[in-house]
Amino acid sequence: MTVAVVGAGLAGLSAAWELCRAGAEVVVLDSGRQPGGMVVTERRDQFIVEGGPDGFLAAEPDLQELAREVGIGDRLVDQVARGSALWTGRRLEPLAEGKAAELLGIQANLTVGAQHAAPLQSAFRSFAAGMAEVVEALVACLVPRLRTTQGVTAVARAARGWRLSFTGGSTLEAEAVILAVPAWVAARLLAGLGVPAARALDSVLYAPSIAVSLAYRVDQVPRALEGAGFVAASDSGCAVRACTYAWRKYPKRAPEGLALLRAFVEPVDGDPGSIAQAELAAILGIEGAPLWTRAFYWPRGLPRYARGHAERVAAVRQRLTRLAPLAIAGAGFDGAGVSACVKSGREAAKGILDRVGRA
Ligand SMILES: Cc1cc2nc3c(=O)[nH]c(=O)nc-3n(C[C@H](O)[C@H](O)[C@H](O)COP(=O)(O)OP(=O)(O)OC[C@H]3O[C@@H](n4cnc5c(N)ncnc54)[C@H](O)[C@@H]3O)c2cc1C
Repeated sequence: MTVAVVGAGLAGLSAAWELCRAGAEVVVLDSGRQPGGMVVTERRDQFIVEGGPDGFLAAEPDLQELAREVGIGDRLVDQVARGSALWTGRRLEPLAEGKAAELLGIQANLTVGAQHAAPLQSAFRSFAAGMAEVVEALVACLVPRLRTTQGVTAVARAARGWRLSFTGGSTLEAEAVILAVPAWVAARLLAGLGVPAARALDSVLYAPSIAVSLAYRVDQVPRALEGAGFVAASDSGCAVRACTYAWRKYPKRAPEGLALLRAFVEPVDGDPGSIAQAELAAILGIEGAPLWTRAFYWPRGLPRYARGHAERVAAVRQRLTRLAPLAIAGAGFDGAGVSACVKSGREAAKGILDRVGRA
């Protein structure tokens, strides 16, 4: 049996890993040039710069279990600095633990998986060389089966399963398919297949965001800085919605004597790096220009679910059971957190294996 996994973000790679372990033939297809989706880590001059997620709740087991299975369990690192502050527009005030996520609108139950909602105040964990470590380990296991720059434009019924069409006109047949793509992409592919209920998946909104990393010498940053970062109050008038003191939050994010900050900037006119620099200078009292800045643009970043989301996803999944094996997985459906994505991908794979009698 060949299973085509569309999307090589964490959900798709986790699905592919589960399928490979069960001995299925897998091909993973991604429209991008790099696997990992929103997981992007850049390493430069001994800095570890995260473009997307920088960690996950230590209480969430799925990503950590996967890490152990692919041999990088010893690369997990704990959050060092704890606690956040609130920028009121005038001063930084201490925030109760868990409050920062709430202010940022992170949907706790959906982030961690509704079944075993962990408290948001739990500590976070990451990987020693950044979140991409888990992507790299998965890719190393899956390498001959992974094809990048393969954007899937349509899925159609075929004699034995499915026919996938790609940008450029080529096709591929597979007995089963897992769509581990954003909700709006899955909505389009499934609607083209005659699953009208899937159009409702378009109700998942992806919030735009720009993650700007800024490097400084530690002597430019006030010593009194406390905790792992701050969140700006919605009426603070800032373009910076939150900031992580990355070099304090996790070990070895910056070389000795240097500091690394990461600001989440709302979509702005002008250069987000300069705007982040000016606002952080005013809020934190940083002196002078950064050594460098690096902005990652997420026109469609974290998904937000509208009321009734779980029911809409369940209705689509119910409809899919009447077709040849086809599953949906990922942040657009089962929770935005990276651990939830791992779980979602693995469960989609298990569902496919069940249907073809391989579980
Ligand atoms: C700035 C930012 C910070 C975040 N911080 C955290 C954090 O600290 N902790 C946390 O837990 N989560 C965080 N998240 C959320 C988390 O990173 C994502 O929800 C998760 O990585 C999504 O994984 P996924 O596999 O579902 O989707 P994605 O990573 O979006 O992967 C989907 C893949 O599908 C591919 N694709 C799309 N269309 C097609 C097509 N037609 N054909 C083929 N391939 C296609 C894409 O190229 C992509 O690689 C953050 C997200 C952002 C943007």
